Amino acid sequence: MSEARREVATHCPYCALQCGTLLGRDGAGAAVRPDPGFPVNQGGLCQKGWTAPTLLTVPDRLRTPLVRGADGAFTPADWDGALDTVAERLRRIRQRYGPDAVAVFGGGGLTNEKAYLLGKFARLALGTSQIDYNGRFCMSSAAAAGTAAFGVDRGLPFPVADLGRADTVLLAGANPAETMPPLMRHLGRAELVVVDPRRTPTAERAALHLQPVPGTDLALALGLLHLAVVEGHRDPRYVRDRTTGFEAAWQYAMTWWPERVERVTGVPVEAQRTAVRMLADAARAYVLTGRGAEQHSKGTDTVAAFINLALALGLPGREGSGYGCLTGQGNGQGGRELGQKADQLPGYRLIADPAARRHIAAVWGVDAECLPGPGRSAYRLLDALGTPGGPRALLVFGSNPVVSAPRAAHVAQRLAALDLLVVADFVPSETVALADVVLPVTQWAEEDGTMTNLEGRVLRRRRLLDPPEGVRGDLDVLHGLAVRLGEPPERYPTAPREVFEELRRATRGGRADYCGISYERLDAGEELHWPCPAPGHPGTPRMFLDRFAHQDGRARFAAVDHRESADAVGDRYPLYGTTGRVLAHYQSGAQTRRVPELGAAAPQMYVEVHPDTAARAGLAEGELAAVSSARGRTVARVRLVATMRTDTVFLPFHYPGTGRANLITGDALDPRSEMPEFKVSAVRIEPHPGP
Ligand code: SF4
Repeated sequence: MSEARREVATHCPYCALQCGTLLGRDGAGAAVRPDPGFPVNQGGLCQKGWTAPTLLTVPDRLRTPLVRGADGAFTPADWDGALDTVAERLRRIRQRYGPDAVAVFGGGGLTNEKAYLLGKFARLALGTSQIDYNGRFCMSSAAAAGTAAFGVDRGLPFPVADLGRADTVLLAGANPAETMPPLMRHLGRAELVVVDPRRTPTAERAALHLQPVPGTDLALALGLLHLAVVEGHRDPRYVRDRTTGFEAAWQYAMTWWPERVERVTGVPVEAQRTAVRMLADAARAYVLTGRGAEQHSKGTDTVAAFINLALALGLPGREGSGYGCLTGQGNGQGGRELGQKADQLPGYRLIADPAARRHIAAVWGVDAECLPGPGRSAYRLLDALGTPGGPRALLVFGSNPVVSAPRAAHVAQRLAALDLLVVADFVPSETVALADVVLPVTQWAEEDGTMTNLEGRVLRRRRLLDPPEGVRGDLDVLHGLAVRLGEPPERYPTAPREVFEELRRATRGGRADYCGISYERLDAGEELHWPCPAPGHPGTPRMFLDRFAHQDGRARFAAVDHRESADAVGDRYPLYGTTGRVLAHYQSGAQTRRVPELGAAAPQMYVEVHPDTAARAGLAEGELAAVSSARGRTVARVRLVATMRTDTVFLPFHYPGTGRANLITGDALDPRSEMPEFKVSAVRIEPHPGP
């Protein structure tokens, strides 16, 4: 095939489904078509995937390093000058305040190689414990609950295609019809039970929609377990042979009789009963959770309660049934396994575990004593920036916390208080706008690497195009900085394949074991899901069929009870404000807002409101509204939605400026996952004078 017509098999740059695509040259850019042979998307793409090539030619692409001068304006710099400046300023900050004065904030969209090298760079080149990433805001509650229940967290411990044989699927707080539409191809046969305060496009397709009061899905899950037990649907042999802890969990669930659940959640008794029967009567059934269940100050317990339900029915670890989490970000799975999290080392190892430290130190060629301990989780890290004892410098790779972090105005203030903010990105995001130094880096079609999708399948991202002149890969940036900070150059390879070879060794024997996976095997077309502990191993598409990953092989019920959300609605803030995603945009929208088709499909911030609620507030369709919480106010166009609960308004979180949904969200964190409470804020809505 001529160079002009060459296509590479790669994957969409956005969500965790990582749809397979064939990408070919088209003038200076690229043209995409779905890869019909990739089993996850089966020839489908959503509008984000179809328009992804536009990202490669956005007019405001960052093409040269920028350094902010004394006058406050950015000045273009050459790479050596920019990296010298960063290294010199980092050195001074470290000398004055110590290594933890420098922090790193990573992203769930970074390739496995970048995520891995970023963690190594932070711990060795910077010597800091202060690293975390935006995946903390995404699926950390499911990760914590899944690890506690099963001994390891892999979003879906089975291939997506298994869902195609399901009779019933319960989706708790997940809206794949909008967030990952090709997944719906696999759900076409199943009867859906959707738990969501909003009547989402997924709920529209459900056989049963349970529409609880925001923040009460934990009570609902406890009630479903209660009904499953008292109506005789528990699988006693499975509970006896494959689990522990049922009795302790039941001590709480037994008090959640259906009428009490209805009082708290608003979900009618009969609907609860129908949901349980649909799951229990199905020959093949799944329970899946998404951000709606997870992004709460009780998110871990909420997910655990849904896992309890699945365990009582005997679903996890049974072929054709199970529990899974629908991970959101493109490499949300790999990103959380390879050392970007404050408390973890590669391979899902705990950084506080002496054996884990020894193993990783040996791979890195250092003494285990050199490795720092656990750092602050994402929000705590952002909250500490520029405070006494907190980090004075921050390096951001692949994230836009000015839009995506909770309590966004406060976070922007903290970023502005830093002595040094360095941002590596390929578009001028809202966080880039605050930076002292901007490093322009490659994007998906310009780089090689691997990603791990929501089913633990390791995938090759393949390069089609050369990056624009002036743009460098993130691995090159880390290498350049590390060397300037005195590290041996060979410790930071710049070739993705070389980084992956090291990553394999680092994950060997860990909970997420990539040891048997190689570029050669992936390029030969092998489908490989971790754990894959040896070169000849076929990978593990279905986990837990014989045993769970705890030492005794058993899954754990969790003893959890319902509790209120941090914000209480009342006279001043009488409504529940909840945030989420829309079809056209991804994450903070920094990429998708630059794609004209996507921008046109969802051009501006809006708030979904029930017509009665809007009328009481004196608002009509299309008018500007101010939505306020105790933290702040966001401005949005009113969209009247008759299916909204009258006590709830919905805000998409993809928009910048005064329309940031996260201007109203707060800093309540889940005590185990440290997930912020994005899904429940007490708010009021009123007319905004505009414009
Ligand atoms: Fe597939 Fe997600 Fe990309 Fe859409 S955004 S094409 S669902 S990977």
